[in-house]
Amino acid sequence: MATVVVIEDEEPIAAAVAARLRSEGFDVEVAADGPSGVALVERAGPDLVVLDLMLPGFDGLEVCRRIQKDRPVPVLMLTARDSETDLLVGLAVGADDYLTKPFSPQELVLRVAAILRRMSAGGNGASDVLAIGALRIDRAAHRVTVESREIELTPTEYKLLLTLADRRGRVQARSHLLETVWEAAPDIQTRTVDMHVQRLRTKLGAAGDLIETVRGFGYRLRAAGQSRSA
Ligand code: CA
Repeated sequence: MATVVVIEDEEPIAAAVAARLRSEGFDVEVAADGPSGVALVERAGPDLVVLDLMLPGFDGLEVCRRIQKDRPVPVLMLTARDSETDLLVGLAVGADDYLTKPFSPQELVLRVAAILRRMSAGGNGASDVLAIGALRIDRAAHRVTVESREIELTPTEYKLLLTLADRRGRVQARSHLLETVWEAAPDIQTRTVDMHVQRLRTKLGAAGDLIETVRGFGYRLRAAGQSRSA
């Protein structure tokens, strides 16, 4: 049985979400502010956290940073409005997905199940060989193949591909990619990322369309079995 921690200060929402998740067989614990939410996650060691963005104490972004520090835990973020800035920052600090209020408890359960499925489909990075559709990445050998054909990548392209693949299924902001792959400050030259993604797609040929553009935010490498999104 998977454990879910719900951190939400609006009591009716927290109660509805908890009740629905429990009825689906999840073990659910609830906290109503940032500091007690972080403490609860440390104590309960949940499989997933449903996290409201606006919280008393400190907000959901700070909660996300703190709970991700020791052990990566999947996060479904709840936002009050469809604010692009909130969303971008949320995804950059490691949220896996988000829901904009108001949402139906049923939609939330579907999202929670989808995230957990993605994690169990090999998201823990234990294996040296990653296979996603026709794409195979052999970390030990630094070898990338598509339909058994070897792909020659520059070190930067290889690092970009690995970064996308390690967090496949998640949107990764350009600024995050720039920081991770180029180790550069996020406010310069996000065009660099676009240009490299374009080259990488071309080189990957048949597997190139695994890398999706999420307009205004960044890129996502589709996880196996994950359908194409708009
Ligand atoms: Ca709130």
